Amino acid sequence: MSEGPDVSVTPIPPELQGKVTITSLDKIYNWGRRNSVWPMFFGLACCAIEMICTAASRFDLSRFGMEIMRPSPRQADLLIVSGTVTKKMAPQIVRLYDQMAEPKYVLAMGACASGGGPFKEGYNVVPGIDQFIPVDVYVPGCPPTPQALLHGLIHLQHKIDGQSLREVAWYRRETAAEVPLPLLGPDLINPGQAGLLRERAAQASAQGGAASPTLPSS
Ligand code: SF4
Repeated sequence: MSEGPDVSVTPIPPELQGKVTITSLDKIYNWGRRNSVWPMFFGLACCAIEMICTAASRFDLSRFGMEIMRPSPRQADLLIVSGTVTKKMAPQIVRLYDQMAEPKYVLAMGACASGGGPFKEGYNVVPGIDQFIPVDVYVPGCPPTPQALLHGLIHLQHKIDGQSLREVAWYRRETAAEVPLPLLGPDLINPGQAGLLRERAAQASAQGGAASPTLPSS
């Protein structure tokens, strides 16, 4: 735990001095996790090329223990959202996030994933993946350089360093609720308003109009 023994007052027998290290359980636990984060192997647009460069030999993600990019969400700790998030892709990204086991983290790479980027006003673009899933680290840029992504990953490591076994969500008795899947529709859909959307679609359909209601902004 974070409140370990105070080494300044804990006597170490002379025969053990220089041979033992006193630390906290949190520190050991987080040291293992921070140096073995496995990102999910998927990309959405141009930012993904920079992510691939980051994993290649010049920048070398394996220095951080992160070189094993997993093709399955069940084996991944980190979702790097690298590219433009379209409305068509948003449900798939949320589904992948839900399929990842805890502990899991999300890094929004680039202007598109963080806030829509140059396509923010586009009819088909989501203004940031944080509309749907919690983001731990944002990396600005269009595209961010590999150095910027590494900087974001180091920030993630600092975040992991600050977590405590006593407080992390994945050791609680209550099961965590899944993030609701957004519905593909004409507008950016707030999943919490899905019932309202269905109701209005049914009304529009009954009136013989197009079933494409506009939801009020949340
Ligand atoms: S932030 Fe720029 S480089 Fe990255 S996906 Fe968007 S347009 Fe492409």
